Amino acid sequence: MKETIVIVGAGPAGVRAAETLVEAGLALIVLDESARAGGQIYRQPPHGAERPAEKLYGSEAGKARAIHTALEQIRPRVDYRPGTLVWNCFQGKLNTLHDNAQGILPFDRLIIATGAFDRVIPFPGWTLPGVFTLGGAQIALKSQGIAIGKRTVLVGAGPLLPLVASQYLEAGAEIAAVLDVTPFKAKIAALQRMMAMPAMVRRGLSYLSKIRRAGVPMMYGVRSLAVAGDRRVEGLAWTDHRGRRHQVACDAVGASFGLKPEMQLADLAGCDFRFDELTRQWLPVVGAGGRSSVPGVYFAGDCSAIGGADVAELTGIRAALSVLEDRGTPKPQQLRQLETELARHARFRAGIEAAYPFPNHLIDGIDDSLMVCRCEGVSAGDLRANFVKSGAPEVNRLKSFTRVGMGRCQGRVCGAVAAEILAAKSGLPLPEVGRLRGQHPIKPIPLVAGKQS
Ligand SMILES: Cc1cc2nc3c(=O)[nH]c(=O)nc-3n(C[C@H](O)[C@H](O)[C@H](O)COP(=O)(O)OP(=O)(O)OC[C@H]3O[C@@H](n4cnc5c(N)ncnc54)[C@H](O)[C@@H]3O)c2cc1C
Repeated sequence: MKETIVIVGAGPAGVRAAETLVEAGLALIVLDESARAGGQIYRQPPHGAERPAEKLYGSEAGKARAIHTALEQIRPRVDYRPGTLVWNCFQGKLNTLHDNAQGILPFDRLIIATGAFDRVIPFPGWTLPGVFTLGGAQIALKSQGIAIGKRTVLVGAGPLLPLVASQYLEAGAEIAAVLDVTPFKAKIAALQRMMAMPAMVRRGLSYLSKIRRAGVPMMYGVRSLAVAGDRRVEGLAWTDHRGRRHQVACDAVGASFGLKPEMQLADLAGCDFRFDELTRQWLPVVGAGGRSSVPGVYFAGDCSAIGGADVAELTGIRAALSVLEDRGTPKPQQLRQLETELARHARFRAGIEAAYPFPNHLIDGIDDSLMVCRCEGVSAGDLRANFVKSGAPEVNRLKSFTRVGMGRCQGRVCGAVAAEILAAKSGLPLPEVGRLRGQHPIKPIPLVAGKQS
């Protein structure tokens, strides 16, 4: 049976899915907007700016090499299209953009392996030049070998915080402080669950010990962040868990508060979503074997729930095995082994989520003057006032009143925070105010992109 099988994303999930399907003798297309394979964690620098894998990926150098090699090995048997953005999914077709040329690609089966991005929560000064996400700070380092500033403060709520801090220190960058907005006691309470993966815990502890050895102040339970500076970052102020106010001088801040799956394609493909209480976000419904609610559409990796790089590889293989099963060649034993391994990872993941609980206090601290949607210039006060005017406690309705989420990011960055503000103002539980519906183009495309490839 000749079918068009498409994978979107060539990170660890997409590469392992592709490899499994190629090994089964299937033809497929792999699309990725990046110029080189590897995804976020195993991101490769541009050609000509390569550095040794040990420098780029530290303890994960072997896994990074394995993913890059896996793609190179299957490349002759795969239609791999780097530099190709998928910006819409509609009635079994993908809209693509490559080299400013539009394309339409019909598919029979689609594996979505689009990964995740930083979760942003506004705080005073967050739009000043010099404020980046933690992921952005890491990308600058991995891709270009540069730090975001001469003296940087890193702030966050998740394992990316100590990781980026230790990578910056390893690269010789100056870190003025590492600030965790979640409490230390949450980590202690979650330790037993995290011990489902002792090697991961050891890795995390090695990052912390690197920060300590470098003499960088590290604080937990930090609140009330505020960037100092008029035209760019000059410092960061915060309140510690005892209520004391601090400020350090710096010229850059890396800040983000967990990760958010890149799920817009799933939304446009018509997949069902559910509200996840633990992470306070809407996630696609993932059925047996990584299947979505739409026949022929599968999930792999962080795009449907954050699991980390090893889980991404496993769920990539799982999605491919489900494709094979749905085509009439089941591999039940392999699937069973995968599910056992994934269950161990799930216990660890539950520990990580408990160790870094959602920082509600940052949402509570958003005052009316704070910009929430920077693309359209919508403040928290605009959102609250328009809710009162419209009386409609639903986030898509609020969008039509205020234009929140209508700009370049299409709500990827601001949508969840707008919903939090609406829920708090209306007194409704967060799931009841809904989520911004996915809209195409899911990422900005240039006006020049008119020609058809
Ligand atoms: C900025 C950032 C940095 C991270 N760094 C680390 C780290 O150092 N260590 C760690 O353990 N975990 C890290 N993570 C978590 C990490 O995402 C996962 O552990 C792992 O990379 C997930 O693999 P994946 O294959 O699911 O997704 P990814 O590795 O993110 O790969 C997804 C791929 O899909 C492509 N893509 C996305 N959308 C589209 C589209 N619309 N059209 C075409 N292509 C698309 C992307 O270009 C990317 O190559 C990071 C996450 C983020 C967001």
